[in-house]
Amino acid sequence: MVDTKLKFGVHIRRAADKAAKMTTALSRLMANTRGPRASRRRVLMSVVHSILLYGVEVWADSLSIAYHRKRLAAVQRRCALRVACAYRTVSHEAVMVVAGAIPIHLLAKERKEVYQKKGQPGTRATKKEESREETLGRWQEEWDAAQKGQWTKRLIPRLGPWLGRSQGEVDFFLTQLLTGHGAFRAYLHKMGRARSPMCLHCGDAQDDACHTFFVCERWAGWRRAVEDELGRLQPETLVLKMIESDRNWKRVATFARAVLSEKRMELASQGPASHEGTSSSEED
Ligand SMILES: [Zn+2]
Repeated sequence: MVDTKLKFGVHIRRAADKAAKMTTALSRLMANTRGPRASRRRVLMSVVHSILLYGVEVWADSLSIAYHRKRLAAVQRRCALRVACAYRTVSHEAVMVVAGAIPIHLLAKERKEVYQKKGQPGTRATKKEESREETLGRWQEEWDAAQKGQWTKRLIPRLGPWLGRSQGEVDFFLTQLLTGHGAFRAYLHKMGRARSPMCLHCGDAQDDACHTFFVCERWAGWRRAVEDELGRLQPETLVLKMIESDRNWKRVATFARAVLSEKRMELASQGPASHEGTSSSEED
């Protein structure tokens, strides 16, 4: 037992180092705004997962998975930030959801369970499917209980429809909308990069993602143009509308890009306490 745990520990350290190096190397090739599409970034994610989880079904028991969870999660988080083009300040819970990456401790548990089902009746595919369903159930429970990522949770309360969508890639701008970390003065103020959290246009106390996309008069014309096509925009229904069709998704993505590009320029013109340098695109 001790020997197995030790071996697993050595394996985890090596795998984590290897996966981290690979994330860094590939990340350098990808700039957030002009880099490869999120689907290609997800290939990076699956490569990193297979390195991290290699042989986990043999070495791991639930204790050792729990013991190494932090180290594994840190590597996975770096990768998920890249997939989602997210700011480095986004919580672990939220970035996993936005990137659509099942948390590594749940994946490890799933692999172990599939391995243990060997010899039981049923095809391997069915067993894998069943285990995946259980994994998603566990992830939903963890997401329900998460204290962090409240804005993301308001937009994406149910993981099923989000993960099961047939189209729609996140990008640098959509992820800002989905996480609230980006060109918003409330966020920048919290990070010590804006003098006040107030909206520059209407004086609202909190210039956050909710205010920007759903309330502020400054963007009313652009918002109305989207609403003419998609119907009323609300935080609770926005993502459901997006995943309905490729057209809807792109419409919202274009809206987010237009608004946030404009805001980015406005904020940059506000002086030294701007948001430059906060994005994960600017370093590993
Ligand atoms: Zn405003």
